[in-house]
Order: sequence, then structure tokens, then C-alpha cells
Amino acid sequence: MGQILKEVLAANQSYAENFGAKENLSLPPSRHFAILTCMDARLDPAKFAGLTEGDAHVIRNAGGRASDDAIRSLVISYKLLGTKEWFVIHHSDCGMQLFTDRTIRGLLASSLKTASIDANGWHDSGEGEGSDEGEFIDWLTFSDLAESVAVDVKRIRNHPLVPKEIPIYGFIYDVKTGKLIEVPQATEIGKAIASESIQ
Ligand SMILES: [Zn+2]
Repeated sequence: MGQILKEVLAANQSYAENFGAKENLSLPPSRHFAILTCMDARLDPAKFAGLTEGDAHVIRNAGGRASDDAIRSLVISYKLLGTKEWFVIHHSDCGMQLFTDRTIRGLLASSLKTASIDANGWHDSGEGEGSDEGEFIDWLTFSDLAESVAVDVKRIRNHPLVPKEIPIYGFIYDVKTGKLIEVPQATEIGKAIASESIQ
């Protein structure tokens, strides 16, 4: 058995031994909110946002982008499971700022092996076969952090399946301090409109 597999299973065994009252948790999040954030290994939403099991939905992908699939999850989150407030949280030093769609498409076309980066940019080993399938994926890269938060909040806000009374907050998590920094223009776009004022 591989080392990582062994470690994960050992950790899980001790977690399950102390599972306690968590067996009684209900499916809908008890604090009625959802977070969309990046998969970056330095971010732990349970810690930086004070969550425990059963509290909230956490939807993660590369960049924390409001992709069609992230929106699918958010719609299920409120429509079937009752969340009422959403956070979009991108972060400083995000890997999604280190390449463009063109870059990753080129790297994949050259080889499927892991590429490397240095001061001169990305390099591919060129080993084995590559594939042009990367051309058909929108990689959702970005260059401006605050702008990407605002763009994603706007995409969610304007989606026809998202009710106007759900507030959507836009934040940047600082990987150097652990702090959440609000992106005011995003939160402004994501502001809830009280249901009585909707005609
Ligand atoms: Zn990231």
C-alpha cells in the first residue's frame, strides 16, 4: 500500500473512533450558508471561517471560480438544502494567475506529465504523449484578483436560477496572514434585494 494511502486510512480510523454525536448531524447545513473557494492546499475554510461538520457547504475548484458546475452546486445548496448567504473567496498568490489558457493548452499538447515552472516560465518535460483536448476546456484563469472576485459574484448574481434575496459576499483570503479581506465592489454587486422590493 502506498505511503499516502496508509496515512489517510490511519488518520481516518482515529477520526472515526472519535466520531461521537456527529452521527446525528442532519443533511442541510445548520448555519445556512455556503462558501465557494479555491482548492489551494493552504486554504482550510473550516479553520479560517470557523466551521465544524454540518455547518455549511464548501464548494471548491481551481480558483474558486463561478463555473457552471459551481453554480449548479450553489443552486442545489439553497433550493434543496436551504442556504441563505453565500461567500465567494479567492486568495492571494493563486496558481490560476500563473498561467493562461494558452499556456496550459500548449503544455498539455506537449505532454501529460507534470510541468515545472521557474523564473523563465513554464517548461514541459515533453515525455510521452500530449493531447489537444485542452483546447476544449475553459480553464478560467485570471490576472486581477479583485476583478475575478467581482466577475464571479456578478455571474452568480445575474444567474436566472439565483434568487435576488441571497446576499453574495466577495472576499480575498491573504495566504500570508490568514485574513479575509473584503472586495467592496464585489459585495456591492452581490447585495441582496429584499424580496418585498422585487416585483
Ligand atoms: Zn487558488
